[in-house]
Amino acid sequence: METKKYTFKNDEKKPCYLSTYFPARIVYNGEEYKTCEHAFQAQKYLGSKSSIYDKKYAKKIQKTKRARKAHKLGCSTKGKQKIRSDWEDYSIVTLREILMCKFTQHIELQKQLLSTGNQLIEDTEIDGGYFYYNTNIVGILLMYVRETINENNLMKKNEKAKSEEQKCPICKKIVEPTPRYPNSVCKDCQKTGVFTKEGKKISFCNKGMGGGFMSKIEGQTVYGREHTCYIKNIKCYADEARFGGIVIETDESM
Ligand SMILES: [Zn+2]
Repeated sequence: METKKYTFKNDEKKPCYLSTYFPARIVYNGEEYKTCEHAFQAQKYLGSKSSIYDKKYAKKIQKTKRARKAHKLGCSTKGKQKIRSDWEDYSIVTLREILMCKFTQHIELQKQLLSTGNQLIEDTEIDGGYFYYNTNIVGILLMYVRETINENNLMKKNEKAKSEEQKCPICKKIVEPTPRYPNSVCKDCQKTGVFTKEGKKISFCNKGMGGGFMSKIEGQTVYGREHTCYIKNIKCYADEARFGGIVIETDESM
């Protein structure tokens, strides 16, 4: 199966929301930047060995208005500033972090990114200004960000489902969740005995294949319609389950 392609151009003219030039403010390493491009270009001058000129230059990039200008400044070789010597080792991971900030700090943009599904995201930038020219690095990193966010969202969902585990209201044992009957008493508790208020054994069944509800008290020959019962001395209510069978829940009306 061929994967559909989702292309965009990483530049400033009418920037696509995926572009590093897209005007979406981000906070990265405690600093606010107007676009990912501003953040990325500034990081070139913010290494552990940065000189005072480098830091000033990074500030200049940060403060510049347009992303295109930030890009130009970041790539400029004029002046006393120097790109950090280890930049090649850090540039990709830095861009990845910056993109992650963008799509976790802007929930609407995140939704848009996730809506691309598993399409191949391709950056068709032909400007050539990037040292990773022609490598689709922005596209690859965007797909990485998309996958990471999807995984995190799935994990959160699973955790939420776990925290919403249903427990038997009497013995607190985890039971198979039945959203319709959140207070249903587990089978083990039912096995300890279901009694009437007077302490007589009581059982319940459907009237027939089509459902219905009947109760039978031990020692009696006729069926009745008694719903109230006691399990481990806790007041419960038995009824016909929606899709057949009987469900006994603790009586929350008490
Ligand atoms: Zn139980």
